[in-house]
Amino acid sequence: MTTIKAAVARAFNEAMTIEDVVLRAPRAGEVQVAIEAVAICGSDVSYLDGGFPIALPAVFGHEAAGRITALGHGVKGLNLGDPVVVTLIKSCGTCPSCQSAHPAICEAPSGDDTPLALPDGTPLAQGLDVGGFAEAVVVDQSQVVRIPDFVPMASASLLACGVITGVGSAVNVARINPGENVAVIGAGGVGLNAIQGARIAGAGKIIAIDRARRSWTLRAISAPPTVCSPPSRSPGTRCARSPAGAAWRWRWSPLARPRSTTARRATSPRVAGW
Ligand SMILES: [Zn+2]
Ligand SMILES: [Zn+2]
Repeated sequence: MTTIKAAVARAFNEAMTIEDVVLRAPRAGEVQVAIEAVAICGSDVSYLDGGFPIALPAVFGHEAAGRITALGHGVKGLNLGDPVVVTLIKSCGTCPSCQSAHPAICEAPSGDDTPLALPDGTPLAQGLDVGGFAEAVVVDQSQVVRIPDFVPMASASLLACGVITGVGSAVNVARINPGENVAVIGAGGVGLNAIQGARIAGAGKIIAIDRARRSWTLRAISAPPTVCSPPSRSPGTRCARSPAGAAWRWRWSPLARPRSTTARRATSPRVAGW
């Protein structure tokens, strides 16, 4: 056991507090990682807002990167000091989903055994099986992926959720065919990666629809999509009409919170996927 600092959520819609918490040592098949970077995902915010059921107190944060500092019994292929991405995707490797190359939908129960506790012994929930808003985490070995030493930790942490969710939604869920036209509603962390995924899949025209102008961000993408930022209360409508005659397959930016009826309708058919 070791004492670390973590951002503890004690009440919904209130600020987290930095506290000393207890992290148990890794058990068989687990690893301990010293966290060097962690991103804030929309899901973390939703949990903090009380949008999903979870018992508090809890430590959230599930887009993390760091270095392995301890190995549980039986862990193979990983070494102390290895730089890794830490993700919420936990897989058993033996259930039908894992055996069919879909570890993101592993059917094994996650369990509620948390490696975290308050100093008085009160269990502390490990949000999304990671608890990355902390100096260190203990997670299942399936939740870490070795990365090259040259990858900056801040960039690597984004691979844990936003990148794989966005790219996965385009490649695995939407299964965009080469040449298809694609509209991505919401060009935030996940939406930008849905655009990347669409490009990887060989999409024809890619239109990014967003309430804010983010062309500076989109220019950084290898093949800039069309940027659409309608000023009206109906985001999506004007953009959808602009390429007359085109056949569109609407796609979704998973964590956006559409406020207009138009946007809600447009986004409703789709879900994310790793
Ligand atoms: Zn996330
Ligand atoms: Zn499984």
